[in-house]
Amino acid sequence: MALRQEQVETSPKVSDEVKYTTCYMCACRCGIKVHLTDGQVRYIEGNPDHPVNKGVLCGKGSSGIMQHLSPARLSAPLKRTGPRGSGEFEEISWEEAFEIATGWLGDIRKTDPKKLAFFTGRDQSQSLTAFWATKFGTLNHAAHGGFCSVNMAAAGLYTIGGSFWEFGEPDWELTRYFMMFGVAEDHDSNPIKTGLGRLKTREDTKYVSVNPVRTGYSAIADEWIGIKPGTDGMFVMAIIHELLRAQKVDLDFLVRYTNAPWLVRVEDGHPEDGLFLRDDKGNPLAWDKHRGEPVNALLPDIVPELSGLFEMPDGSQVRPAFELMARRYLGQEYSAVEAAEITGIPAATIKRISAELAHAAFEQEIELDVAWTDWAGRKHDKMIGRPVSMHAMRGISAHSNGFHTCRAIHLLQMLLGSIDCPGGFRYKAPFPRPCPPGPKPTGKPGQVNAGEPMPGPPLGFINGPEDLLVNDDGSPCRIDKGFSWEHPFSAHGLMHMVIHNAWAADPYPVDTLFLYMANMAWNSSMNSKGTMEMLTDIDESTGEYRIPHIIYSDAYASEMVSYADLVLPDTTYLERWDCVSLLDRPISTAHGPADSIRQPVVQPDRDVRPFQDVLIELGARLGLPGFSNDDGSAMYPGGYPDYLVNHQRMPGIGPLAGWRGANGDQHGKGECNPQQLERYIENGCFWQHDLPESQQYYKHANKDYLEFSHEMGFIPSSDQIIMQLYSEPLQRFQLAARGHGTVQPPEELRKRISKFFDPLPIWYQPIEESMIPLDEYPLHAITQRPAAMYHSWGSQNAWLRQIHGYNRLCMHRDLASELGIGDDDWVYVESHHGKIKAQVRTMTGCEKNTVWTWNAIGKRRGAWNLDDDAAEGEKGFLLNHLISELLPVDGEGKKRRMSNSDPVTGQAAWFDLRVRISKAEAGQEVSEPQFEPLKPVPGVQKKPKILRFGEQFLPKGSWRRKDQA
Ligand code: SF4
Repeated sequence: MALRQEQVETSPKVSDEVKYTTCYMCACRCGIKVHLTDGQVRYIEGNPDHPVNKGVLCGKGSSGIMQHLSPARLSAPLKRTGPRGSGEFEEISWEEAFEIATGWLGDIRKTDPKKLAFFTGRDQSQSLTAFWATKFGTLNHAAHGGFCSVNMAAAGLYTIGGSFWEFGEPDWELTRYFMMFGVAEDHDSNPIKTGLGRLKTREDTKYVSVNPVRTGYSAIADEWIGIKPGTDGMFVMAIIHELLRAQKVDLDFLVRYTNAPWLVRVEDGHPEDGLFLRDDKGNPLAWDKHRGEPVNALLPDIVPELSGLFEMPDGSQVRPAFELMARRYLGQEYSAVEAAEITGIPAATIKRISAELAHAAFEQEIELDVAWTDWAGRKHDKMIGRPVSMHAMRGISAHSNGFHTCRAIHLLQMLLGSIDCPGGFRYKAPFPRPCPPGPKPTGKPGQVNAGEPMPGPPLGFINGPEDLLVNDDGSPCRIDKGFSWEHPFSAHGLMHMVIHNAWAADPYPVDTLFLYMANMAWNSSMNSKGTMEMLTDIDESTGEYRIPHIIYSDAYASEMVSYADLVLPDTTYLERWDCVSLLDRPISTAHGPADSIRQPVVQPDRDVRPFQDVLIELGARLGLPGFSNDDGSAMYPGGYPDYLVNHQRMPGIGPLAGWRGANGDQHGKGECNPQQLERYIENGCFWQHDLPESQQYYKHANKDYLEFSHEMGFIPSSDQIIMQLYSEPLQRFQLAARGHGTVQPPEELRKRISKFFDPLPIWYQPIEESMIPLDEYPLHAITQRPAAMYHSWGSQNAWLRQIHGYNRLCMHRDLASELGIGDDDWVYVESHHGKIKAQVRTMTGCEKNTVWTWNAIGKRRGAWNLDDDAAEGEKGFLLNHLISELLPVDGEGKKRRMSNSDPVTGQAAWFDLRVRISKAEAGQEVSEPQFEPLKPVPGVQKKPKILRFGEQFLPKGSWRRKDQA
C-alpha cells in the first residue's frame, strides 16, 4: 500500500476562480489573490504585481481563510436583554437595529450633537468616518491613533512633512546604514521584511536595531542595542552631540531644505521671544552673509549665516535657529558619558555609532546621474545621496516622551542630510506636505450646533493656542480632552480616555458611545478591569448606566460585544468593499502614489452588513448632509461602492484616484467614473502612478514633483516644503505658559506647558516613572508584536492560535536568577496600579531590567467563542491590567489627575510601565486576574468541536479522517 505522503500533489489546481482583493490580517494592506472552489475560499496567495508586497504573503495573510471561517463571527444584529456584560442579547432585524440607532442618534443630533462620542479602532475608512462625524455635527470623533502611534505621526508631520511607514520608507535599494528604533513589527510588515531581506544580502550595509528586546526584526540585526525603555531620545541626542562636535553635519542640506538659517528672536521677556523674525509680508528672515543684512529666508541663492548674534534694524536681537540647536546639543548633558548613564548604552558604543553614521553619510555618498530641477527652477545634473535611513513606530511612540524622541530622530536625519535623497528616508505621496499640514481641528465653541454639521473635520493640526478646542475658561471642548491645554497637538485624539471621561462626566456626560472595531473592554484599554466597571456603572441619580447607550460594530464576538446595548455585526474582510484612499492612509510607495480597494470575493452567509454600508445608511436615515438628498432620499442607495465612485470631497477629488473622468482616462482629479471599480478590479484592485526618475528624490524641493503633487490636490501650492528643525508652534505654547498672548492656559497647567513645549527636541524621564518610587518598581514592562498575530485579531484564528495559544512573561536569565525564578515558574507582577500573575520564560536577548510579553494574546474566558478553558484565557494574560489611564494621584497639576499620555500629543504611554516581580506560591497554574467567563452571544454558539478546513475540497474517494468518512 502506498504511503500517505506519496499521494501528495505538490502543484495541484486549487481553484476554479481567482479574485483579487486586499489583505486585512494586519494594517499593511498587501495585495492578494483569493482562490475559490465552488464559491468557497480555498487558498490565498500574494499578488506579485502589487506595489506593497510584490507577491509576498505572510503567515497571517495565508491564515485569512480561518479568519473568514471563524466560529467567533457574529451572525445577526443584537439587542441587549440582560445587564451589560451578561452576554444576554436577542437577535433582531436590521430594520429594528436601524430604528434603535436612529432613535438615539436622531435625538442627540436635534439637541446636542457632542453627546455622541464616535470612535473607531484599526479600521481603514477614516476618511469616511471623519466625514460622517463632521456631517453629524459632533467633535467627539477620532480613530485609534491616539493609543497607537500619534507621537510618530505628529512629530513627523510637524517636523519633516512626512513620517515613517504610511508616509515614508527607507530607500531599501541604496541605503547602507539602517537604524530601527523600538518595536515596529506590527505595521508595514511585509515591506520591511522584504526590505531587510534585500539589505541583508549586501555586504556593505549595516542594520542596527535599538530595542530593549532582541526579537522580531531585531533578531536579524547586525548590531542590537539593548536600550532601557523610554531613553531613545537621549541616545539620539547624544549622537547629535557627537556629530556636532565632529562637525559631521550636512550644512548645505540644512540651508537648502530646513529652517536652520531662520532668525529667532532671543530677548527674554519679549512677547515674541523664541519666534521667527518675519518681514511685513510674513516671510521668515535670514542673515545674508554677502549683503550683511536680513533678507527673506525663502529667496533662492542667499548665503545665510548659521551662527552669530545679530541686531535687526529695529533693535531686535536674533540668532539663527541652527545656533540655538547646536548650543543645546553641544551641552555636556548630551555627552555620550551622560547619555550612557540614562540609556544603559556604553559611551564608546554611542560614539562608535555616531562615527559609523557619519562615515556612511559623508564618506559613502551616492551620486545618481539623474537630472532634476529644484523649486527655484535651478537645474541639477546629479542626485546626491547620503545612504543612512531610519524607521521607528510604536516602540518609541508609546512613551510620554515619545513626541520629542521622534522629533529628535528627524532632527538627526536632517543633520545627516538623509531625507528624500538616494539611500535615505523617502517620502510616500501624498507626502511631503507643509509642516504642519492642514486643516485645523473643528469644534470650538460655536462650531457645534444642534441639527447642524460642523464647518470642518474634528481632527487636524494646530499652530498655536488660538487653535485649541477650549472654552473661554480653558476647559476642554472634546470628551477626550484632545486639542486642549492638557494635550494640545492631539492630531489623532485620545481614544484611550473616552470611556473614563464619559463615565466621569469630565468634562461632560455623553449620551451614546458609538464604537467600531475597538476592543475597549479588554486589550485596547488601559485599566481593563476598571474600564469594564465604568461600562457597567449605574448613575444613582437616574438609575441608568452612566454611559446611557453603547452601539458597537464588530465582525467577531470580542470582549467589547458583551458590553454593548446594540451590536451591528460587520462582515469579514473577504465579504466587503473597502477603500485604502489617498484621502486617508494610502498604499503609496516612494516610487509613486497608489491606492487600493477590497471587493467582496464571497457573499456573507449570515445576516451581517459591512460597517461602511451601515454608516452610510444611518447617515441617510438621519438626514445628514452629504448622505441624504434635499428630498430626504439616500444620496448613496448603493452603499459603500456607490459612495466610493460618486462621492467627491472637493470638485474632481474622491476616495479613489485611479481611472477618474467620464472615460476613465484621468488620475488624481476628474469627474466620477461609473466604471471606476471595474477598472480597479481589472487591475488587481489597486492603482499606482510611477513617478518619473526626475521626481523620485528631493520631493520637498523638486519643482516637477511639487507641481505634480499640487495638481493631484495633495498640497495647497507647489511651494517648497521646508523642514522644521526649530518648531515655532511649540514655542507659541511656551510663550503662552509665560503669560504672553490672549489665549492663556489654566494656572495649574502653566508649569507643564512650559516644561514640555520646547521648540527643540528634549528628553525627560517618562512621566509616570518620575512619579512613582522606583526602588519599589525597579523593572520596566513592555510588549512586543508577534509576527503571527495582529493585536487581538488572530485570537480566534484556528491556525494562528497554534503558534501563540498563550503568552509568557519573558525576562533576562540574570534577573530571573537574582530573583530566584526559573523557566516555567509563575510570578506576580505588580505596578502602582494593579497585580497580575503570569508564567515566566527566561532568555538573554533583552535589557536586563526589562520584562516583556506578546501583546493581546491573553483573552477573557468565553470571549471570541473560545472554550472556557482555552489557553488564551487560562494562561494568557494582559499587561493592560497593570497600566492606569491616569497618572498617580499626587501628579502634576495637583487639582487634576492627568491622563497617562504624552503631554504634547496625548499618545497613550503604554510603555512607561514600571513593575516589581515576586515568585508565586506553587498551586494553580492559571493567570490572574480571572473574570467570570463571558457567555457566548446569540448566533455564535454553534462552533464545531474541532475546526477543520480543506477536506471538503479533496477529490471523491481521497483519504479522509475516519470521523468524517
Ligand atoms: S503583512 Fe499584513 S497585510 Fe500583508 S499579507 Fe501579512 S497580514 Fe496580510
